[in-house]
Amino acid sequence: MSMPRIRIVATGGTIAGAGSRPQSTQVYASGALDVKDLCAAVPGLNELAQVETEQFAALDSKNATPAFWRALAVRLQELLDSEAVDGLVVTHGTDTLEETAYYLHLVLKTRKPVVLVGAMRPATALSPDGPLNLFNAVTVAAAAEAADRGVLIAFNHGIFGARDATKVNANRPDAFAAPNGGPLGLVQDGCVSWLARPDRMHTHATRFSCDTPLPPVEVLVGYAGASAALIDAVGACGARGLIWAGTGNGSASKEALAALDRLRAAGLAVVRTTRTGSGCIPAGQGMVGAGTLSPWKARVLTMLALGAGCGEPQLLQSVFDTH
Ligand code: ASP
Repeated sequence: MSMPRIRIVATGGTIAGAGSRPQSTQVYASGALDVKDLCAAVPGLNELAQVETEQFAALDSKNATPAFWRALAVRLQELLDSEAVDGLVVTHGTDTLEETAYYLHLVLKTRKPVVLVGAMRPATALSPDGPLNLFNAVTVAAAAEAADRGVLIAFNHGIFGARDATKVNANRPDAFAAPNGGPLGLVQDGCVSWLARPDRMHTHATRFSCDTPLPPVEVLVGYAGASAALIDAVGACGARGLIWAGTGNGSASKEALAALDRLRAAGLAVVRTTRTGSGCIPAGQGMVGAGTLSPWKARVLTMLALGAGCGEPQLLQSVFDTH
């Protein structure tokens, strides 16, 4: 049987990071190494798949933008449409990996596996985590059962769904988790064990594509004594929507609520989420409820929904209830 043909598309990040001292895990340049160097550090990669590589970008993902998401999606869609590619692995910085992953999860038109991967330690560090994470990502992308599970994230032996995965630690190699539902599977020593499938609309089932415009949407966090002036500033800066990362159950103080009402009256989409990191936020206080989506994922979905003409509150709520 011929091996799956997997394309590794590199975009930068710590997985390609280089520092001057092996003891240093914090001081290094992100995206310094070429994808060929990353693959050279992974023995056994060619026993998993026929691997091809391409260097798409050399970005520190803290600098990623919606324009970068779209350009990446256009290239990945070209590859996915090709009969010469069975699956994709995308190397990416961890800081905003979850946002890129969720955007791709919503716009790529495919059933083929797409797996994002990163690392917490630069490639030059003592005990780098990148090579094993890359080996595991190719293992997942080459697995027939990875098809039609949407965009996946392979990290530290976990396989996470793009909708629910989030970076939960700033330093440790077990930096990713899915706080509401757990991982979709596990990967170890070239074997994959599946635990769950994503049950919301993704990839080929959504109305979004890489052509959907991405109007600006901001995120603000609630905290004791938060100034309502920042909420009014969002109304004045040209944003089309605001994600409210509220206290507890997505709540807002009296002053914040009055300012959020002013935004809604001015025609902005206002969606509430929680700053707690997990839980399910229903509609309330006049705001659309993001359910179990994090504030950053809710922003991605709101941008796409607004770009697709689904900004009216009831319609936007139904988008949140199904994606
Ligand atoms: N700043 C890096 C990035 O996101 C962090 C990482 O990759 O872990 O590109």
